[in-house]
Amino acid sequence: MRSDSHIVSRRGLLWGGLGVGAAAVAGIAVSTLGDDGAGGAGGTAHPAAPPGRGPGTVPHGGAPGGGAHGSRLHPRGAQYPRRAPRESYRLRPLAGETSMGTPTAHPPVRTHAETTLPATGGERVIALTFDDGPHPEHTPALLEVLRRHGVQATFFVVGENIAVYPELLHEIVADGHALGNHTYSHHQLTRMRPGAIRSELGRTSELIDQVVGFSPHWCRAPYGDWHGTSLEICSELGMEPMGWSLDTADWRRPGTAGIVRTVTDQAAPGAIVLQHDGGGPRHQTVEAVDRYLPVLRARGWTCVRP
Ligand SMILES: [Zn+2]
Repeated sequence: MRSDSHIVSRRGLLWGGLGVGAAAVAGIAVSTLGDDGAGGAGGTAHPAAPPGRGPGTVPHGGAPGGGAHGSRLHPRGAQYPRRAPRESYRLRPLAGETSMGTPTAHPPVRTHAETTLPATGGERVIALTFDDGPHPEHTPALLEVLRRHGVQATFFVVGENIAVYPELLHEIVADGHALGNHTYSHHQLTRMRPGAIRSELGRTSELIDQVVGFSPHWCRAPYGDWHGTSLEICSELGMEPMGWSLDTADWRRPGTAGIVRTVTDQAAPGAIVLQHDGGGPRHQTVEAVDRYLPVLRARGWTCVRP
């Protein structure tokens, strides 16, 4: 099974594709690492997929032969009651939070996914993203770590998992993290017909909206594998594609120290960090985040949410 990173590197996807523009101009939510107990840096986190997924799906950094989002966690098309937004969400101001507000009607069609934050001007800002959840064990554990360090991230969630664990979506949003669309069943978009791609993306955005009351602005294709058609549909659905520039390869489970080393060694201005809170055992990832955040803070890095 190919990993997202393999596909991305093969295509020569790129760094620094983003135009320049101050973070403020780009509407990036910024918070200094550890400057407070709750409003920390923002990254984006992926939703976690339950362990034991079928062979058809693999996290972005999909482990060869590893579990996948593909396993049927619930009946296809299962419906769940629409939840009324909790008071805390209703009161949370969304204005200016580009990643959480209503999607732009028709963002420009991109030629590739953004792999770095726009316009950091060399500042030590970095975005954490977590894919493939929400996961009943790893997502709550990760949320606790991020909360303790006062950092916010972006979670690219999978529709199938949202349907099973909608309450975790509320928890993610309650902590001020951003949500991104990571398709409904985590299959490779480039191998689908347009109608199926539209369903994978549209169904997931609708599901997120039903659960938390807003649709995601950012979208990440499984394995980072985009093509012209999927990029067009992404735009039609009011979203922008997001890739990554720093791949922790945490899905390979290189060990907590290995993940910590990758992040601290490769941190670069505007980097978007790919990690997973679902799709398999993510204990190493959660522990690594707990360990590298103090290091990044000590070195002057600030986590931002795109
Ligand atoms: Zn994924």
